[in-house]
Amino acid sequence: MDSKITKPIQPRMPVLFVGHGSPMYAIEKNKFSDTWRALGLWLPTPEAILCISAHWETNGTKVTAMPLPKTIHDFGGFPQALFDVQYPAPGNPSLAKDIVEHSGQYNIEPDLSWGLDHGCWSVVRCMYPAADIPVVQLSLDWNLSPAQHYQLAKELLPLREKGVLIVGSGNIVHNLRMIEWENQGGAAWALAANATIKQHIESGDHQALVNYAGLGKEVELAVNSAEHFLPLLYVLALKQADEKLCFFNDKPVMGSLSMTSVLVEGV
Ligand code: ZN
Repeated sequence: MDSKITKPIQPRMPVLFVGHGSPMYAIEKNKFSDTWRALGLWLPTPEAILCISAHWETNGTKVTAMPLPKTIHDFGGFPQALFDVQYPAPGNPSLAKDIVEHSGQYNIEPDLSWGLDHGCWSVVRCMYPAADIPVVQLSLDWNLSPAQHYQLAKELLPLREKGVLIVGSGNIVHNLRMIEWENQGGAAWALAANATIKQHIESGDHQALVNYAGLGKEVELAVNSAEHFLPLLYVLALKQADEKLCFFNDKPVMGSLSMTSVLVEGV
């Protein structure tokens, strides 16, 4: 039986925050990419995917609007096999137009120059290897405050009822300056920061997370550049009061990264 035909669309699609970690996870078989593959089979099949990736920051918010987004290899120093990866999922210009037209005060603009960066394709390619679901990316406007990102995300809520799977891709703990290559787990500060952030996610205290700068020294180290944390705020802003969430891939790696991911389960 073809699950892509029989699975119904939920009235409100789930939302995902995915810790993407090293670009190598895109081509390695490991416990993280295994979970991404399982999610692709388990989640209701989306009409389209909207990805907010840590790796696309722009002046103003942009949405990819091309019919065939290119695969962007936005990294260096990795094996050729990673540069050879192509993810030929189509775009969805009509979804991009819908987002532009309903962006409220945030003036989202269509973009024809980007494509799919590794924050997006490293995860989505494992979830949907057939590349048969259209993918659109939304950028992070570097002029916005965390509170404004959180508010902008709420404009995207109607998309969930149109079968769009919204995926935030970053890392809750992400400090490349403090990487310990040999460390299979997390440094003490990273574990403490991950626990603090998880606690606020579980209790629904989104304001504490929007104001993450006030969460202490460990969180300051974990969010030393905001772009890997901000996609989490998009996902939390889309959670409704009647929805549960759960964590997955909740593991620290290389001392200063956590793969901790969040599923807002939908209804
Ligand atoms: Zn990244």
